[in-house]
Amino acid sequence: MPTVNDNFLKLAAGYLFPEIGRRVAEFAQANPEAEAKIIKMGIGDVTEPLPEACIVAMHKAVDDMSKRESFHGYGPAQGYDWLREAIVEHDYQSRGCDIAADEVFLSDASKCDCANILDILGNDNTVAVSDPVYPVYVDTNVMAGNTGEADDSGRYGGLVYLPAVEENGFTPDLPTTRVDIIYLCFPNNPTGSVATKETLKKWVDYAREHGSLILFDAAYEAFVTEPGIPRSIYEIPGARDVAIEFRSFSKNAGFTGTRCAFTVVPKGLTGKAADGSSVELHGLWKRRQSTKFNGVSYIIQRGAEAVYSEAGKEQIAELVSFYLENARIIREALEQAGMTVFGGVNAPYVWVKTPEGQTSWQFFDTLLNDANIVGTPGSGFGAAGEGYFRLSAFNSRENVEEAMQRIGAVLAV
Ligand SMILES: *Cc1c(COP(=O)(O)O)cnc(C)c1O
Repeated sequence: MPTVNDNFLKLAAGYLFPEIGRRVAEFAQANPEAEAKIIKMGIGDVTEPLPEACIVAMHKAVDDMSKRESFHGYGPAQGYDWLREAIVEHDYQSRGCDIAADEVFLSDASKCDCANILDILGNDNTVAVSDPVYPVYVDTNVMAGNTGEADDSGRYGGLVYLPAVEENGFTPDLPTTRVDIIYLCFPNNPTGSVATKETLKKWVDYAREHGSLILFDAAYEAFVTEPGIPRSIYEIPGARDVAIEFRSFSKNAGFTGTRCAFTVVPKGLTGKAADGSSVELHGLWKRRQSTKFNGVSYIIQRGAEAVYSEAGKEQIAELVSFYLENARIIREALEQAGMTVFGGVNAPYVWVKTPEGQTSWQFFDTLLNDANIVGTPGSGFGAAGEGYFRLSAFNSRENVEEAMQRIGAVLAV
């Protein structure tokens, strides 16, 4: 019998979405008449169709595949140059960020990139995450053997947890002990918080001073609406030397089912080899991707390229404002019902304080039983998420309005 990666056996605490599924199934079985009424505002998946510009581009790309002259087999593992150049021009150079096309690596998902990046990093790093946190950062470190066992609150030994709480505006304070790697996600999933230039500068300065690496997840950058809030860590001077950035077409262009994302690894960003010498992470990531990855489908990359066309930009702005309007409706309805609400202005997530005396899971059960609404308990994202609840604005307008009416009625009782 082969041995297994024992690190996976430490993952018992990663039960959030299965547990939600279990409770919803149990409720539906006990209340068959209510099953059809259930509105899911839990998982962060988009609901609206792809932008027309992307559809047109992908149809055309399918036709390209039908002729020998325009057929595409294996593409470059790092992505086609035309897409890398479009990304750099529209996402970086237009905002004054000094990023070159060959520093952009296309992939089929940001989730994979967040996980795979650990391939090129050592196992002896001190890793910091915020609490609450996108579970992928934590679980992939567990799988890679970078942690000890989980304690009763679900926190793993060896990781540094930085609370993101009301007192710090849900942006974690700098660690008090030195860390090698810091995961940051802004606009944030799950809290919907954003980081100002000053906040990000504080992190970049910390990383430069301590030789730390920032893994910056900007999956929700398109939702930034307030002026002055950075959309990329590279808007902060000096960030090139300390940060890798993850981006995705999932949330801005609705590519969750289409799959396309990219990671920026600037040249000159280094790590330390066992012999003490500096090694460029760019070369390691390029090597990793060309060995373990064979590129994103040509058709999908053409779809992603259309995101940067004039029509594509307009359609994406419309999509984003549609979801942000949902978020506004959710915020206002909950505030009217007397709840304390955070996020939902520069992010598609609303982070709600649970009513006095209810834990995250108790509030989950209240909403499921009394309003037939499914959300996500804050405690599922980390110990510091206890007492909070996440509602996603990714839904149809009809569902959001109906859900808010029901929640309002439940909370008014
Ligand atoms: C949705 C999401 C992503 C993007 O994931 P994909 O795999 O590209 O769909 C990345 N980070 C966070 C925090 C997310 O919520």
